[in-house]
Amino acid sequence: MKRSALLVVIGAMFVVAIAAQSRQPAGTAHNGKAFKFNKVREGIYHAVGTGSLAVVGNSSFIVNDNDVILVDDHVSPAAAWVLLEEIKEVTNKPVTTVINTHFHFDHAHGNQIFAPNVQIIGHEFTRRMLLSNSIGMPLYQNYVTGLPGQIDGLKKRIASEADAAAKAKLQTQLQVAENNLASQKELKPTPPNVTLATQMTLYRGSREIQIRFLGRGHTAGDVVVLLPNEKVVMTGDFLTSGLSNMSDSYPEEWVTSLDALKKLDFDTVLPGHGDAFTDKTKIDYFQAYLRDVWSEVSRLKKEGVSAEEAAKRADLTKHKDHFPIQGPGVPPIAATRIYDLIDGKVK
Ligand SMILES: [Zn+2]
Repeated sequence: MKRSALLVVIGAMFVVAIAAQSRQPAGTAHNGKAFKFNKVREGIYHAVGTGSLAVVGNSSFIVNDNDVILVDDHVSPAAAWVLLEEIKEVTNKPVTTVINTHFHFDHAHGNQIFAPNVQIIGHEFTRRMLLSNSIGMPLYQNYVTGLPGQIDGLKKRIASEADAAAKAKLQTQLQVAENNLASQKELKPTPPNVTLATQMTLYRGSREIQIRFLGRGHTAGDVVVLLPNEKVVMTGDFLTSGLSNMSDSYPEEWVTSLDALKKLDFDTVLPGHGDAFTDKTKIDYFQAYLRDVWSEVSRLKKEGVSAEEAAKRADLTKHKDHFPIQGPGVPPIAATRIYDLIDGKVK
């Protein structure tokens, strides 16, 4: 066989091998690395977006003797695809297992790229949501319906920008947004194929990986991933480095569930948003914030103001030393949620 013919055959085999995993999704183009992998322990990485691709949430991955376990898979099929490509630069071991900390779009919308033999593990509630109407929920709807307007806005700013460096920066942002939209169009929410109700433990060589549901909080089905030997916990949005969104939350129960988190033995938190941290007092600060959001919004509701108005007036500024709070106000989606909980519209 001539060398060129041989290359064609090898090339065809390569294409077939790739296709057995998943077709490359739309919207994966980007410049430079899409992720920064922060190594927190031997074989344990916190993956944070660089801004060259829309990834939104953070993921984490655990390299074991023979495989890789991924915790969360970002905002789109494209983001998850690129994550797998970049993980290949760290290890050639296969990703056999994905854990979804919860159903939200920025943590579970990469699920569809994994081959059927990959175990996707999540809480029963996470499966239920991804099987039903997770993309009809306000959090995702607000996000995805905002993308075309964001793209138009960037195009207008590019057209009127005179400074070359500023223009180039806007052009990158435009590319990121357009690729994200292209990937969202291919979205097929894919639920976990393995579920748990309270706890599950994976053993991989010397590693023990505990998946634990600590009670309702950020959603009705958040799990945290605890590595007891390494004293690392991956918390998704149950505990972030800032303020988690509250659109599907149970703020009062969340405080109690965070007490259960405090009882676990860890010294490093890899959150679903923001940088890794070691300071456990952040949990106390966040509990205090949750208590006050609840009491402040309920107080306004008792006064008879609308949820929209309560969102503007709720004053949490006393928490500004610990969280990015500029002035009075909470996201409308949080006030609406608390109104719905008080009215019994959500159970
Ligand atoms: Zn979330």
